[in-house]
Amino acid sequence: MKKHQFDIPQGMIYLDGNSLGPLPSAATQRVAQTMQDEWGELLIKGWNQAGWMQQPAKIGDRIGRIIGASPGSTMTGDTLCIKVYQALAAGLNMCPDRKVVLSDSGNFPTDLYMAQGLLKTMGQGHELRIVDPENVSDAITDEIAVLLLTHVDYRTGRMHDMDALTQKAQAAGAIVIWDLAHSTGAVPLDMTASNAEFAVGCTYKYLNGGPGAPAFIYVRPDIAPGVEPALSGWLGHLQPFEFDLEYHPGAGIDRMRVGTPSILQLAALEASLDIWEDVDMDEIRARSVELCDLFIDEVEARCPQLTLASPRDAAQRGSQVSFRFKDGYAAMQALIAQNVIGDFRAPDIMRFSFTPLYIDQQDVLEAAKILQNIMQTDAWDTPQFKARAAVT
Ligand SMILES: *Cc1c(COP(=O)(O)O)cnc(C)c1O
Repeated sequence: MKKHQFDIPQGMIYLDGNSLGPLPSAATQRVAQTMQDEWGELLIKGWNQAGWMQQPAKIGDRIGRIIGASPGSTMTGDTLCIKVYQALAAGLNMCPDRKVVLSDSGNFPTDLYMAQGLLKTMGQGHELRIVDPENVSDAITDEIAVLLLTHVDYRTGRMHDMDALTQKAQAAGAIVIWDLAHSTGAVPLDMTASNAEFAVGCTYKYLNGGPGAPAFIYVRPDIAPGVEPALSGWLGHLQPFEFDLEYHPGAGIDRMRVGTPSILQLAALEASLDIWEDVDMDEIRARSVELCDLFIDEVEARCPQLTLASPRDAAQRGSQVSFRFKDGYAAMQALIAQNVIGDFRAPDIMRFSFTPLYIDQQDVLEAAKILQNIMQTDAWDTPQFKARAAVT
């Protein structure tokens, strides 16, 4: 338990770390230091003297440890949308004779939007095939160029069998991309053992890097030297400061860089990764399963109005629990008004994530009791709680 290393408002039970992780206490100081000592004092010299240019790769390696990737195979930068685009473009390039991208309806829509935009731009008649999550395995055929899946479903927390699907897709000759947005820092991962070609993810969810913190991309080391970057920005160039008029990709994972890194965001993320440094993912997983199981038991016993939307079997679930309720939006607003923070995903999903770094059994019991009280008294049934905000 590392709750003391986060600035969480007094009395708040924060069950939304799958959407935006809380502020690590050290991040405020770290960012201020980077601003004053580096940006303020060094100005342009910061790129060399403060090591700004190496930050994306250095922090990439620290994330690599959390996702089971070897050093030199993970790069930070941009946002996840961009990393999905990069990975998919590179994957399709490796399979020029095939025209189908396979994904599922449980994917976070932006991954599908990015695929749609890319395929349209390519203009080579590619198809994005979207099947139900339980049918992905059967839909893997020798037509598939790239299998693009999000490992843990953002709504229900259902988790794909990464190794089985990767093996099946690769046996059929497809390239595999895993989106680890809801897995990184939530469940143990071993990208090396999975043998998948690409993985992408973000750092503002379970990694607590802060709003807009840079995303990451992993490329399997043996294929990285052959990957052709679709977003051929100058910092992915072999020699950016030669100002060559022609693009030549940088060595290995360096080529997945695009433009100038966000140094202040990286400073915040670095403070967060200090907390992760001595975290054992198997231990986190064991405690996350305990917390999720406890919440399911408590809510089912206390709130018959709610229906479990997540897999009951922990082995098939990430680090979140979701319940369906017709007026889930209003019920979540009522809960938030009482300082229990989860979120809502259309049409009827109430989402709660359990992050053992700062949530314990006491929090789970307290949250379940408050939820029970709201459901028993219909406290959610007010015009105020039913009025939808822009971000749900
Ligand atoms: C959170 C999330 C995103 C968000 O992408 P951004 O570029 O950071 O806005 C994309 N894909 C998945 C699967 C996500 O869970």
